[in-house]
Amino acid sequence: MEIRTLMAKKQSLMEKAMAAAKKVITKPVAKKPVAKKPVAKKPVAKKPVAKKPETKQHKQYQVKENEKYMCKSQISHFRKILNEWKLELSNDIERTVSHMQTDITAYADPNDRASQESDMALELRNRDRERRLVKKINSTLGNIEQKEYGFCNACGEEIGLNRLLARPTATLCIDCKTLEEIKERQQAK
Ligand SMILES: [Zn+2]
Repeated sequence: MEIRTLMAKKQSLMEKAMAAAKKVITKPVAKKPVAKKPVAKKPVAKKPVAKKPETKQHKQYQVKENEKYMCKSQISHFRKILNEWKLELSNDIERTVSHMQTDITAYADPNDRASQESDMALELRNRDRERRLVKKINSTLGNIEQKEYGFCNACGEEIGLNRLLARPTATLCIDCKTLEEIKERQQAK
């Protein structure tokens, strides 16, 4: 008798433990929409591509000996880089718009719908960023035509070839940029 009650107790404890374990196991399943996100977030996988442009690896530039800063060949290199970059971004923007137009599917599952909507919101934010970048590229191309390209907007010093190759749209030298960021951070506080 006693053993039986012990066994019963043990069993009920086991059941409890199993139920608890099941709960733990089922939790991620219940979180389906979250777990699913990486799959639904396909356009997000694109994000690095969309985001990359800002720190895009541009074509290298071979500096010749005795070459002057912002000489003709440097200027034409940057003009080329900026135009190619702009074209790439514009194609990207167009592609998304047509992709979104054909991809508006009505999901029965509200979770799917929600994740599709957040994907789209993200996509739109990315496109918005790209559109702003295109604007920036255009104004940079304008600077090139005005022969103002390559010099800091704040102090007038050379921005430097290396910085420009990494960030062709830079309008501030690294010192002024750093200063600006510090000021921004202080204002944000
Ligand atoms: Zn400066």
